[in-house]
Amino acid sequence: MKEPKQKTRDKLRLRDGSNAKPRPRPKRPFSRYTPEEVDEIFRRFAVQRPEPKGELEHVNAFTLLVAVVLSAQATDAGVNKATRALFAEADTPQKMVALGEAAVGGHIRTIGLWRNKAKNVIALSEALIRDHDGVVPGDRDALVKLPGVGRKTANVVLNMAFGQPTMAVDTHILRIGNRIGLAPGKTPDEVEAGLVRIIPDKYMRHAHHWLILHGRYVCKARRPECEHCVIADICKAAVKTSAIPAPLVELAPVPEIVAAAAQ
Ligand code: SF4
Repeated sequence: MKEPKQKTRDKLRLRDGSNAKPRPRPKRPFSRYTPEEVDEIFRRFAVQRPEPKGELEHVNAFTLLVAVVLSAQATDAGVNKATRALFAEADTPQKMVALGEAAVGGHIRTIGLWRNKAKNVIALSEALIRDHDGVVPGDRDALVKLPGVGRKTANVVLNMAFGQPTMAVDTHILRIGNRIGLAPGKTPDEVEAGLVRIIPDKYMRHAHHWLILHGRYVCKARRPECEHCVIADICKAAVKTSAIPAPLVELAPVPEIVAAAAQ
């Protein structure tokens, strides 16, 4: 017979007349790693990529904001393909509004949910002109009030355009946080809170990019490439297939890695 769950067991025990108090539930651990291990993980990521960069092409804070809004449920490569021509025509909110929703839609037609995104790009450009003199605000509360801008988008913009130590949790970071137990959580907000809590301040500025790049190129969704992983000896993932860390050397910038892989 199936074992009743803890809550049900506690209820049954009380109904039985037993005085046993319900056992307190163990709190969800916020990390399976000691502070020393976390420090070592990020020290190695920093050696691999001293100055990690995002892969979304942009020329200023405004085009970064638009690119991040367009990147929801789309690949960075797909967004870059569409935005090259768009940003050549409109790199300010004023020019974007002048271009108009139909023309913006024409540029981004290859990106999923393009109709809604074109609407948001125009609406957020209008809001920037109306409420912020056409300048992207470096403040989360103001950013999340813009059409199409959520917490994750705001975190990316604050990190990349304003150098703030934010943690934007995307699908890769959500997976790593849980898979290796670095900061387990059911939602991006829970994983974000866990990571912000454990990552040393000195690594926070680039931690977001390091984790995304690690998830995209090494700790991949379907099959993590543990044999290429520099933290394989520290990692506590159940799915780990190697405990021998890859050589710790500085890596080539990502576009060069992608080009080499395509050859
Ligand atoms: S050892 Fe494997 S599972 Fe652990 S972080 Fe590296 S790639 Fe991911």
